[in-house]
Amino acid sequence: MMNFCNLCGGTLSTLVPEGDNRIRHVCGQCEHIHYQNPRVIVGCIPIWQNKILLCKRNIEPRLGYWTVPAGFLELEETMAEGAQRETYEESLARVNITYLHGLYDIPHIGQVYSLYMAEMENAEFGITPESSEVALFDAADIPWEDIAFKVVKLALEQYLQEGRRKDGQPFGL
Ligand SMILES: [Zn+2]
Repeated sequence: MMNFCNLCGGTLSTLVPEGDNRIRHVCGQCEHIHYQNPRVIVGCIPIWQNKILLCKRNIEPRLGYWTVPAGFLELEETMAEGAQRETYEESLARVNITYLHGLYDIPHIGQVYSLYMAEMENAEFGITPESSEVALFDAADIPWEDIAFKVVKLALEQYLQEGRRKDGQPFGL
């Protein structure tokens, strides 16, 4: 929640500006309208030899739960670049993005998730300040009860239902 204008330091009010139909934060001093919009999360499902790389979160929210590498898209990067960067920051794994796996709206927290499929360049990965454990999982061993976010669980389920192993066999979720 914003209280002050970051342009002039004036006090913000919440009101529906003329010609608009939503409540906005409007500066009482310079009259600037501070629009707020959803944020883009970028990430990927990293694959190495039919296994999936997951990270155990070392940060809140959902500390101690498993997730795929993902985070906020930064300015001046593409979504695929952001997914590669987040993957390295959280798992030290270098990946090549292969295709967009899914887009997920999470309107109640103002986020849009874009999750890619990615092939790891090699078997190297490791813990980071953001991940207390990083590990490769067979489809059968994914810790479903300890997945951090619904959206990640859904994305993994969809991958295992729709995806094919490199040898052409279904994962058989
Ligand atoms: Zn202002």
